[in-house]
Amino acid sequence: MVLVSINHPIDPEAAWQQLFARDPAATFFYAVATTGVFCRPTCASRRPLRANVRFFPTAQAAQAAGFRPCKRCRPTTAQINPLDKIRSYIEDNFDRPVPLAELGRIAGMSPFTVQRLFKREMGASPLAYQRALRASSLRGALKQGDSVTKAIYEAGFGSSSRAYEGAPLGMTPARFAQGGRGEQIAFTTARSPFGWLVVGSTHRGLCWLALGATSAEAEASLREEFPLATLYGDPSLSKLVDAAVAIVSGSAQPPTELSLDLRGTAFQLRVWQALRQIPRGQTRTYSQLAREMGIPRSTRAVARACATNRVSLFVPCHRVVGVTGSLTGYRWGVERKRKLLEAEGAANGTHIPRSA
Ligand SMILES: [Zn+2]
Repeated sequence: MVLVSINHPIDPEAAWQQLFARDPAATFFYAVATTGVFCRPTCASRRPLRANVRFFPTAQAAQAAGFRPCKRCRPTTAQINPLDKIRSYIEDNFDRPVPLAELGRIAGMSPFTVQRLFKREMGASPLAYQRALRASSLRGALKQGDSVTKAIYEAGFGSSSRAYEGAPLGMTPARFAQGGRGEQIAFTTARSPFGWLVVGSTHRGLCWLALGATSAEAEASLREEFPLATLYGDPSLSKLVDAAVAIVSGSAQPPTELSLDLRGTAFQLRVWQALRQIPRGQTRTYSQLAREMGIPRSTRAVARACATNRVSLFVPCHRVVGVTGSLTGYRWGVERKRKLLEAEGAANGTHIPRSA
C-alpha cells in the first residue's frame, strides 16, 4: 500500500499524521487511489480515507506511478517555503495590520496553522512580528532622542512595543535600507591591528564598519553597500575605529553613548542584538545562538542574519563559529575572524585553525 523509497523512507504513520494536520513542514506527496490524483500534504481538498492513500517522496515518483497532479495544490510547480511567503508578505505590508485570515489565504493554510507555524519558526506570533517590524524602523524612538540600541531592545519580541505602534512609517525596512538612497553618510578609514577599518555614520548613528586590506578597499566596501548615498569624509569618526579596536583588545567597554543605525527586518535586528550579548572572549555556534534566542529550529535563518551584519566588531558576528569550533565564513575574511578571536582570547577550548 505504501511506497517507500530507498533513499528517503517515509514512515506512513508519521506521514498520515502530517497529512491529517496539513503540516506545512511535510516534504512528501500523497496520492489517492480512488481519484488517481496526487497532492501536497497541505492541499485544502477534502482529506482522503487512510486506506486509499499512498505516499511518495517526490512528485516525479507519484507521476511515475500513474497519478495526475492535483489542480488545486499543483504539486509539480516549484513552491516557495510557506514561512518565507508569509514573512515577506508581512514585510511588504508592514505599514498596516495584516489579519491572520489574510495570511492564511496567501499561504494556502488555515489562520490557525499560520499562527502555529510562524510562532514555531520565528519565536513570535505574526502579530508580534508585525508590531516589532513597525517598531524596528526605529524612527519614532529616534525622534524622541533614544539610542538605537535601546530602541532595538524595546522593539524586541516579548517586550511591549505598544509605545511605537502609532509611529507612521512611509517605507518598508527593505526599501529603507536599499542602497542608502537620499542618505548622507560620513565616513573615515583608519589602520588597525586587524587591517584597515572603514566607519560610516548617518546622523542617526553608525551604519557601516568593515575591514579591508587597504584604505581604498575598505572605502570601496562602503560605496558598494550604499551605492545611492552621498558620502563625505569626516576624520572625527576615527574615534569610533579606536573604540571598536578597544572592544576587541579588551582595553575598553563599548561606549555607552554609541548609536547604531542598524537597518533590517525585525528578525535581523533581533539576531544582531543577540550577537551583542555574546561576551568578549566567548564564542557561540549558530545553533547555540538560535537556542539562546528561543528559536532552536531557525539556525539557518540566524546564520543568514549574522552574514548580513553591517557593523562588524560592535555587532560581533565574529564570535559565532561552526559546530566543531571551526571558523566558518566571515564577511570580512576568515583570516581576520581568526585574528579577532585570538585577540579576544577566545582560543581557549575553541579550535581555531590557522587557515580555514
Ligand atoms: Zn491537491
